[in-house]
Amino acid sequence: MTKATTNVRVSFLLGAFLWIGQAAPAATPVRALIIDGQNNHDWKHTTPVLKQILEDTKIFQVDVLTTPPKGGDFSNFKPEFDKYKLVIGNYNEFPAGDKWPEDVKSAFEQFIRNGGGFVSYHAADNAFPEWKAYNLMIGIGGWMGRNEKSGPYWYFKDEKLTSDPTPGGAGNHGARTPFLIVMRDAKHPIAKGLPAKWMHAPDELYSKMRGPGENMTVLGTAMSDPANKGTGHDEPMLMVLTYGKGRIFHTTLGHDPAAMSCVGFIVTLQRGAEWAATAKVTQKVPSDFPTADKVSTRAQ
Ligand code: ZN
Repeated sequence: MTKATTNVRVSFLLGAFLWIGQAAPAATPVRALIIDGQNNHDWKHTTPVLKQILEDTKIFQVDVLTTPPKGGDFSNFKPEFDKYKLVIGNYNEFPAGDKWPEDVKSAFEQFIRNGGGFVSYHAADNAFPEWKAYNLMIGIGGWMGRNEKSGPYWYFKDEKLTSDPTPGGAGNHGARTPFLIVMRDAKHPIAKGLPAKWMHAPDELYSKMRGPGENMTVLGTAMSDPANKGTGHDEPMLMVLTYGKGRIFHTTLGHDPAAMSCVGFIVTLQRGAEWAATAKVTQKVPSDFPTADKVSTRAQ
């Protein structure tokens, strides 16, 4: 064996070793906290799915904090936000549950303002219509008495994000069907490499969402079909926002575990969570990502 051959073999082995090293879990996982406990959705079944999706990235270590049930004593509900880089909201008080105590609200605002990440998942954007900072974080919300005082409607018109001050209620969806997501910002780290259009598994398509919409970039929209109680508008489905130094990923998708089995939901959540927590996305787009004409799901 020549010396050159040996060197090639050593390089190959070293390369293989480095490759394995990169595929291994991060030495220091990014700590994330799901908050649930009240919701007009089946949070007891969606939280474990959220946790699994995030931990499958090998990036996150996920804790769950469950609030007291409706009408319970919140005096011991004190999330330790400083232990985490990311909070995932799976909480809403719809229709008449509990607001978070003022000290928790201000601690959460401070956490995000100082650079924390937040993921607003599905009906988390129904929560807290009266909490100004929360609505600045999520950009748009629905239901819970929101109206023109909450901000304008936001949707895409003529390929551009448009605000519409028309008075009226907020939040609507039709029957759950598959629908096409159209990506609107291919350069954002979350969207980079995703197909320009992809079919989402049967889910609620939120429409008539309104709010301040400040510091908000819409990454993906879907056409709200008038034949299915829709508006006829290209409605925001996936958004990124900033609040102070904090980053927010807002997905309106994922009504139930069936909708959450969509690879498009899974991958945008994983990438959105990484971006919100760290400002970058290191994950590759998987080969089973849905296409413009084919839904793709994974067993949960
Ligand atoms: Zn829902």
